[in-house]
Amino acid sequence: MSTEKDKSTSALRPRTLAVHGGTARSPFGETSEAMFLTSGYVYESAEAAEARFKGDEPGFIYSRFANPTVRMFEERMIALEGAPEGRTIEARATATGMAAVTAAMLCHLSAGDHVVAAKALFGSCRYIVEELLPRFGVTSTLVDGTDLEQWKAAIQPNTKTLFLETPSNPTLEIIDLQAVADIAHDAGARLVVDNVFATPVLQKPFEFGADVVVYSATKHIDGQGRCLGGVVLADEDFITEYLGNFLRQTGPSLSPFNAWVMLKSLETLDLRIKAHSENGEVVARFLDAHPKVARALYPTLDSHPQAALARRQMTAGGNIVAVEVKGGKEAAFRFANALKIIKISNNLGDAKSLITHPQTTTHQRLSDEARAELGISAGLLRLSVGLEDSQDLIEDLDRALAAI
Ligand SMILES: *Cc1c(COP(=O)(O)O)cnc(C)c1O
Repeated sequence: MSTEKDKSTSALRPRTLAVHGGTARSPFGETSEAMFLTSGYVYESAEAAEARFKGDEPGFIYSRFANPTVRMFEERMIALEGAPEGRTIEARATATGMAAVTAAMLCHLSAGDHVVAAKALFGSCRYIVEELLPRFGVTSTLVDGTDLEQWKAAIQPNTKTLFLETPSNPTLEIIDLQAVADIAHDAGARLVVDNVFATPVLQKPFEFGADVVVYSATKHIDGQGRCLGGVVLADEDFITEYLGNFLRQTGPSLSPFNAWVMLKSLETLDLRIKAHSENGEVVARFLDAHPKVARALYPTLDSHPQAALARRQMTAGGNIVAVEVKGGKEAAFRFANALKIIKISNNLGDAKSLITHPQTTTHQRLSDEARAELGISAGLLRLSVGLEDSQDLIEDLDRALAAI
């Protein structure tokens, strides 16, 4: 394929990069990015095929390795994430967020290595660290991510990687990225950050020293609940040495169709996340002050125990609110069932507001003790605030709280 690349976009601002970053036009000069639904590519000659396989000539070989539409998505993600001074950041897209997390870990870990991770992890991420890695000889220690002493105490001579998400799912714990990155680097280890809840619009982990950033693109990046996808961003060296070949050989590739949907979604990411955050904050304030609510957790509310840290490393609080109603599971179910605009669903980051009861859905596989440690009580609900008018959401919540 011969493409016409847009002129260098690196000096542009985020909203412009979101619209133009990574665009590669075919000779037809299409305005909108093309969707290349192709598994393979044809060559001018046998010699050309040989040269491309040898790496002597650039070009696509097979869509498990790379695809023009997927590449546009990766390049737009690189543009949005940005690179701190002196670092060159690369990206690889994957079929799901879990494929991104799994690949980011497995590609560089070997039997005998050790991983330290925060306890407050997305359920499947916890499975990777607690169950999958140990089966292959990679031991792990889980810590309270908000306690820096626990991170330090967990470091062993063979610690290779520290892993966390912030804000965390579902109780919105905030972890000090710079401090944990420093602990990792002092130990000669890497820090991997799951940045799903914040997105690159609200938080840029590389600027706080993270080595690898992973996303479930299924959430806010798609933003309309249509496609599964994921992406790993890291220094070019990490991709060359570990991730690129791991993905090429094991094959959790993103479909070009899904890549196209995500690519077009990125055009509005900055706008959407700012609107989501405005709604999130308004709804969180309303819930925090409501007499039927025991507590509302939202990163930038003054009542959040780490509000100062959240404001330091995030530009806004995002769209996820954890709300604990008084009266346990019965009250939580009555409340959720009485909502009309806000739908019951375990997905998040959608234009539609969604609510879930973690104890009985996303976190039901955890033991009672593990749930208690994470603050997942019977009355806790996780609300993903959408893009509706916030006044309609407040009226819906108010009506439903009255049903308790
Ligand atoms: C959803 C999610 C994942 C997994 O992503 P999938 O696209 O569902 O595989 C990982 N981490 C966090 C924080 C998530 O919310």
